[in-house]
Amino acid sequence: MPSQNLRDDADKYLMQTYSRQPITIVRGRGAKVYDLEGREYVDFVGGIAVNVLGHGHPDLVQAIQRQAVQLIHTSNLYYTEPQVKLAKMLVDHSFADRVFFCNSGAEANEAAIKLARRYGHERHGPGRFEVITMKNSFHGRTLATLTATGQEKVQKGFEPLMPGFAYAPFNDFGAIESMVNEKTAAIMLEPIQAEGGVYVADRDYLRHLRDLCTQQDILLIFDEIQTGMGRTGTFLAHEQLGVKPDIMTLAKGLAGGVPIGACLAKESVAAAFTPGSHASTFGGNPLACAAALAVCHVLLEGKVLDQARRMGEYLAKGLADCKDRHRIVKDVRGLGLLQGMEVETDARAVVADALARGVLINAATERVLRFVPPLVITQPEVDKLIDLLDILFNQRPTAGKDSHH
Ligand SMILES: *Cc1c(COP(=O)(O)O)cnc(C)c1O
Repeated sequence: MPSQNLRDDADKYLMQTYSRQPITIVRGRGAKVYDLEGREYVDFVGGIAVNVLGHGHPDLVQAIQRQAVQLIHTSNLYYTEPQVKLAKMLVDHSFADRVFFCNSGAEANEAAIKLARRYGHERHGPGRFEVITMKNSFHGRTLATLTATGQEKVQKGFEPLMPGFAYAPFNDFGAIESMVNEKTAAIMLEPIQAEGGVYVADRDYLRHLRDLCTQQDILLIFDEIQTGMGRTGTFLAHEQLGVKPDIMTLAKGLAGGVPIGACLAKESVAAAFTPGSHASTFGGNPLACAAALAVCHVLLEGKVLDQARRMGEYLAKGLADCKDRHRIVKDVRGLGLLQGMEVETDARAVVADALARGVLINAATERVLRFVPPLVITQPEVDKLIDLLDILFNQRPTAGKDSHH
């Protein structure tokens, strides 16, 4: 079997940082992908919330093709059109006034952390450097961002961690209020903790955080790397949560699958970066920015966002109904097309069984299934997922509230 040879070579030649599912994906269309043997899968992973327009979206493909012919890369020693147009597009549709481009989520968060420290130093002196992040958060795998990540399993073995971070329990305003001190430069959080198991921030909590930050000139940083780009049914998740940050990071869905990251900030904050403060060779390159521009055009035109909102509600309802049918399902939570289902069984085994039956899902934790499909997912595709979950839960020991199946 050719895919077996490929897997053998992967075992031999790649650093073993991932435990992969046993399929080789060769192409995709919309919310479906196909493996080397031609088997079809409905894709509820979407490249981990990256393929917002689905696979093979004509506008995205065409933008990449055109830009590839025109100019792929020149560095930031020169101006390029796609980068400036994309920055303007993001500024026009957010709280922000300026954008820094890089190549990944971790790098976007690095930029945010550096910007916050620089701002803190300039405004309040060198003692102002601490960033408070949340327990159970996820911000990336570089040394600074794994330190920002409030999960021991991500940090273990990489000590010493970066100084200047502290961790607060999520959605607990009293706790963070008592942690803030003269060292605090920023509070950084995901509007929805995604990798940590899909926990949505309370509106009141965010409002209190915003007020606290404003009063004490502490920067509020939203990591919208997973929640942004239409994922929750609005262009940015915080539009629904009633609070604006001072700094925000984007990556994952921003260019629909082409690597890119962005750190956005208000003018007063962005001014802390001056020529030489920060840089990236590939950051904002024309190819990635042309792809991101195409994604932004499609999303902001409206139809795909409408679909994301409708299908988000449909998926949430389908999962909630599924919960009512199965004792094994403990909770369903999320916003739009970022949904999590907590199960009282091995989530990874459910993922493997679903794969064998032609549906890609992912386990955010040992107990939480996560659904982050392309925003162009359709009703029959969601139905297929729910039907499959019913079958898989009925097979499991404690399955079924109604035993008449
Ligand atoms: C994926 C993710 C990151 C890290 O992005 P990379 O591109 O993998 O570096 C950071 N924050 C959040 C919220 C994410 O979901």
